[in-house]
Amino acid sequence: MSYQSGKHFLQIPGPTNVPDRVFRAMSKPTIDHRGPEFVNLTREILNGLKQIIRTSGTVVIYPSSGTGAWEASLVNTLSPGDKILMFETGFFATQWKSVIESKLIEDKKQTIKAVAIVHNETSTGTTSRVADVRKAMDRAQHPALLMVDTISSLASIDYRQDEWGIDVTIGCSQKGLMLPPGLGLNGISEKALASSKSARLPKSYWDWEPMIHSNKSGFFPYTPATNLLYGLSESIHMLMEEGLDNVFARHKRLGEATRLAIRAWELELLCQNPEEYSSSLTAVLMGKVFRIGHLGDFNELMLVGTLGGIEMGLAMAKIPFSKGGLMAALDYLAYS
Ligand SMILES: *Cc1c(COP(=O)(O)O)cnc(C)c1O
Repeated sequence: MSYQSGKHFLQIPGPTNVPDRVFRAMSKPTIDHRGPEFVNLTREILNGLKQIIRTSGTVVIYPSSGTGAWEASLVNTLSPGDKILMFETGFFATQWKSVIESKLIEDKKQTIKAVAIVHNETSTGTTSRVADVRKAMDRAQHPALLMVDTISSLASIDYRQDEWGIDVTIGCSQKGLMLPPGLGLNGISEKALASSKSARLPKSYWDWEPMIHSNKSGFFPYTPATNLLYGLSESIHMLMEEGLDNVFARHKRLGEATRLAIRAWELELLCQNPEEYSSSLTAVLMGKVFRIGHLGDFNELMLVGTLGGIEMGLAMAKIPFSKGGLMAALDYLAYS
């Protein structure tokens, strides 16, 4: 491939832009993960993640993708034959929470062991109201565990594990946490931890028990992704410096500017319900969809570059659209 001048520009909904501060932190020498220095790093990042997930429960980190963190949540809490309730969001929009409630009410023998949902659906740009799902489960008086994929919402969109009664949080490094791919994580409630004691699905690598046991003394049961953990420590510092509420407000504002551009182009937003607009990405319906990522280490000028690139791309591809989306976004960013 020939050299392309200028900054690398890829504004997809993950992997996201990795800040230079994080890259610099990751370039430190790889230390002995069984040595004394490691203990402080482990404690710091586990405490930091608890603040981001907003839990006083347990957090574990794997050298894995997000998919690995999903597998971990399932194999640690379920046994062969257990049923779980899962929904495709985005299509059902407003209805699916009542569907969950009626499915749970129908489940008189309480054979459903877990309800698994996605907080921010990255394929459609739709954010589910997770707290409402908890309320629906409570109304149905059903004991199923609530598991939530926060992969494209964590550190971008408000999320509260304890307050919203979530049992397992599934997350990973390469989206709102502003890291390269390679870390998966679970936030674990007391109830989920209790279920794990009797869960019989086979597991070894994903087993919470040895992980939690080693983490207590500041270590890991096998070699962790040391340099990614340096990066995580730095990204947690950055998120805390900005303040989580400011981080969420920044994402919301960039999402709003993006939607204004799309409307001015007279293109169609895939997400129809304003209450469920995603602050981390926007999907545009053109028969198929294309997605604009506005999450992670991202600011107004970067969004302007992204929207400018899209407006150029639409023109070059001779797609019918109205000009002026970029201007609509600029007006919003400049005046409100
Ligand atoms: C990116 C993403 C995943 C997949 O994560 P991997 O790291 O690719 O395994 C899963 N769920 C959601 C909501 C995502 O955005």
